[in-house]
Amino acid sequence: MAGSNFLFVPGPTNMPDRVLRAMVASMEDHRSPKFPQLGKACLEGLKPVFKTTQGTCFIFPSSGTGCWEVALTNTLSPGDKVLASRFGQFSHLWIDMCQRLGLEVEVVEVEWGAGVPVEQYARILNNDTNKTIKAVLATHNETSTGVASDIAAVRHALDAASHPALLMVDCVSSLGSLDFCFDDWGVDMAVAGSQKGLMLPAGLGILCVSQKALAMRAGATLQRAYFDLGDMLIHNANGYFPYTPALSLLYGLKEALQIIAEEGLDNIIARHHYLAEGCRAAVMQGWRLALCAKAPQWYSDSVSAIMVPEGVNGAEVIARAYHRYNVALGAGLAQMAGKLFRIGHLGDMNEVHLMAGISGAEMAMLDVGIKVEPGSGVAAASAYWRAHQPPSGLLIR
Ligand code: PLP
Repeated sequence: MAGSNFLFVPGPTNMPDRVLRAMVASMEDHRSPKFPQLGKACLEGLKPVFKTTQGTCFIFPSSGTGCWEVALTNTLSPGDKVLASRFGQFSHLWIDMCQRLGLEVEVVEVEWGAGVPVEQYARILNNDTNKTIKAVLATHNETSTGVASDIAAVRHALDAASHPALLMVDCVSSLGSLDFCFDDWGVDMAVAGSQKGLMLPAGLGILCVSQKALAMRAGATLQRAYFDLGDMLIHNANGYFPYTPALSLLYGLKEALQIIAEEGLDNIIARHHYLAEGCRAAVMQGWRLALCAKAPQWYSDSVSAIMVPEGVNGAEVIARAYHRYNVALGAGLAQMAGKLFRIGHLGDMNEVHLMAGISGAEMAMLDVGIKVEPGSGVAAASAYWRAHQPPSGLLIR
C-alpha cells in the first residue's frame, strides 16, 4: 500500500520517530548496575506529567486495564462500597471489574454524552454519614463518547462532605493530552496507559498513587499477587522492577518523556485544545453534524465522537475510510455501535496531519451517502486554525 496509513483511533496513537528509534535497543541485563538509570528516569520522569511532587508513580507491564485492577486490589477489601458513574464503555468496564472483584458498587447511570455527575456524587457523599463509601471512581476522559469531566469538582464534593473516600481517576486517554493535576485535585489513584498521550505502543500500565492510598494497602484484603504495589515499592526504590521489565517500552517511555519536556506539558495541553477546536469546527460548522458530547462543558480535547445521521450505520463510514482512504477512525462502542465514529486527535499531531482524518472522514461520509457539503469540514477546520494563534509546539523555529 503506497503512502501512509493514517491512524485516528483514540489510542494507540501515532508514535514520534524518536520514540520508535529509542525502542530499537538490544536487550540488556535488567539487574545490572546501570539499569536503575533507566528505571529511575522513567519513574521520576512521569511525575511532572501527572503534575505531582507528592504522588508515587508505578509502571506495570500491562495495559491501562491492569492498573484499574492495581488501584482497586491494593486499597479495598471484598464487600467494600465504591461510588461510580456509567456514561460510556470505559466507565462501564471499570464498574464491571469492581463487581467482578466482589466490591459493592453504587452506580449512578448517566446518559452517554454527559460525564461524571458531580451534583449527584455530592448528594450521595453528603448522605453517607457513616462513611461507608471507600472509593469514588471517575473517568476523566470517556474515550467512547468523547466526554471530559471535571475532576477538581469531584474533589470539591468529597471535601465539602468531609468524606475520606479515595478519589480514583481513570486518566488513560487524558494524561499528557488534557490538563491533569494529581496534587491540586487531591487524586489518590490515577490510572493511565502508554498508548495514548504518551505516544508509545500499548504495553505499559501507568499509575500515580497518593501516600494515603499507599497506606491503605495494609488493611486491603482483595487478592493480589503480580499486581501488589508492595513488591514494586521494594524494587523501585533502587530503580529496579520485581520481574523482567518491558525494556524496549521503557526506552520508548524515557524518550517520550523527554519529548514532552521539550515541548512543555502546558504547551501540549494548549495544542490539544487548538487541534480539537479545529476538529469540532469541521464537525459542527462544516458538516453540521452533532458530537456525542451533549454540551461544551463535556467536549474532549483528545477525541471527538461524531454522531452519524439517523438511518446511516457509522460502521460503514469507518469501513469506507479504512479500505478506500487508508484512514483508521474509531468505532462506536456498545450502545453507540453504528451511531457514531470517532476521530482521535491526541498525541503526536499537528493541523495538517489532523486534516487527513477530517478529509478522509468527509470523503467516506460522502461515499456512503451522508449529505455533507464536500470540502466543508476541511474549510471550517482551516478557518479556525488560520484565525487562531498556534501553540508553540506547532511552530518550526
Ligand atoms: N479507560 C479509558 C478511558 C480508555 O480509553 C481505555 C482504552 O482505550 C481503557 C480505560 C482501557 O485501557 P487499555 O486498553 O490500555 O487496557
